Amino acid sequence: MTLKAPYDPDNIFARILRGDIPAVKVWEDDHVLAFMDVFPQSEGHVLVISKSSTARTLLDIEPDVLARLTAAVQRTARAAEKALKPDGFQIMQFNGEAGGQTVFHLHFHVIPRWSDRPMKGHGHAPMADAEALRVLADRIAAALE
Ligand code: AMP
Repeated sequence: MTLKAPYDPDNIFARILRGDIPAVKVWEDDHVLAFMDVFPQSEGHVLVISKSSTARTLLDIEPDVLARLTAAVQRTARAAEKALKPDGFQIMQFNGEAGGQTVFHLHFHVIPRWSDRPMKGHGHAPMADAEALRVLADRIAAALE
């Protein structure tokens, strides 16, 4: 996928937003949704997306929508830090196939990191158990401010 292709309304995150396929939600409001990555690169790996924007990449998104989205990323990271007590965390965001992107609805990854635990590679992590993800999502959600 090039950087310039049109938005596909049937991409997997659009289908999650429509409720066509399930997701383990952490929190949402009218503008954003935070949900667990089903192939977590580290414990507590959360994805944060806009509900309204059809931006595929960072190049496409309206600045005011991006501002809300990045505030949601920070809120999610703060809750994950409080709940899971990682040593650090990574915010990742990929653009275009050549940039490592696999789902073409703009999203940010919030990935807690521990000094003694290697992170799994992007696109190389096994699928997580849905119940285990629900437990983590609930812990993170309970720490939201
Ligand atoms: P990216 O490669 O940056 O486009 O990230 C897409 C992310 O979506 C990857 O980390 C995948 O593990 C994750 N992913 C793919 N399908 C799903 C799904 N159905 N629910 C949650 N996360 C997903």
